[in-house]
Amino acid sequence: MSFASRMHRVVASPTLRVAADADRLRRQGVDVVDLGAGEPDFATPDHVKAAAHAALDANFTKYTPSAGVMELREAVAHRYKVDYGVDFKPEEVIITAGAKQALYNAAMVLFGPGDEVITHGPFWPSIGDQIKLADATPVIVQTHMEDGFTIHADPIINAITPKTKGILINSPCNPTGALVSEAEMAKIADAAKAKGLWVIVDFTYEKLIYEPVPHNLIKVLFDRMREKTVICSAASKAYAMTGWRCGWAIAPKDVIAQCNVLQGHATSNINSITQKAGIAALTGPQDGVTAMLNEYRKRRDAVHGWLTSDPRIVCVKPGGAFYLFPYVAGLLSPNGLRSSGEFCEALLKDVAVAVTPGEGFDAPGYFRLSYATSIERLKEGADRIKTFVQALEASGRI
Ligand code: GLU
Repeated sequence: MSFASRMHRVVASPTLRVAADADRLRRQGVDVVDLGAGEPDFATPDHVKAAAHAALDANFTKYTPSAGVMELREAVAHRYKVDYGVDFKPEEVIITAGAKQALYNAAMVLFGPGDEVITHGPFWPSIGDQIKLADATPVIVQTHMEDGFTIHADPIINAITPKTKGILINSPCNPTGALVSEAEMAKIADAAKAKGLWVIVDFTYEKLIYEPVPHNLIKVLFDRMREKTVICSAASKAYAMTGWRCGWAIAPKDVIAQCNVLQGHATSNINSITQKAGIAALTGPQDGVTAMLNEYRKRRDAVHGWLTSDPRIVCVKPGGAFYLFPYVAGLLSPNGLRSSGEFCEALLKDVAVAVTPGEGFDAPGYFRLSYATSIERLKEGADRIKTFVQALEASGRI
């Protein structure tokens, strides 16, 4: 069968594939420890669910404007005003099906054939493939485990060519958990402004930062190059709302208008009930966000300690998001498991632990483990991983 050429440039989302594999095994009755997809195990807060119930009861079940109801676009503006001290109008916001659609809209609206878009690796798979779906070329500047996967401005600026159209920063980063500092963001913004480039920030994990480091990237960008800034984020991670599909893009109103044209032909509005829930999440009490963050910090420390007690598992302790990104190249060999992809397959088959292979993030030799799951399941998962590694060693296949 022949498909459109763009489909040959991309692969199925590796993060979603792992989730599907784990689900299939679970339905066969296997006790899978699923540390694959990044999604909070917490329930959506009660006041958010109550808003959704009320929306249903009020028959708020019709189409809405495709960019989202005005009250939700205002709620996004309100949240960023309170959290970051920045002002923007609802016309500068579009409501999307998660940050994923916000990023997709931006890629489709801003980039095209011949354009290069610089981002940093290891990177979330949809970032690269969305740029390719827009017929543009992702240019990857690698970050390195040796310095905590820190996102530095200079290599990104050095990657700018006459074809560069944009720079995409993901902070905190999925999968590494690294953050770009405000100072490095400012350097990137100054360089981008000088060259007339777009800067897009994937801010999905903005609420998941474990140490009190300044991370007001939106203000840094607004102060320097607001007219070329796009911020993409979502309620998914902060409010445990992955399945609701509530995200947003914040950008100059002309960009938002174009995103709305695209979205108006692709999906129209996100679910009307979700929109009411999103308003409650953004305008209601925020203490649940802090409680979840504190719990994730405990889990990060615990699972990091358990895994790295085996010296063959090397792992940076991340500053944000909810992933560990261990390096396991020392456990691979030509006679045994030859790649981190094979390592993850065997881990699922032998001890029923689902993690995402580094290959999906353009980082062979690593795997990604989501610690957005209960401490008991994390302990069980870490124990199984360590048992698996011991068995690998005992088999002489390392
Ligand atoms: N962002 C999450 C992850 O990386 C959800 C899966 C996805 O949409 O890719 O696991």
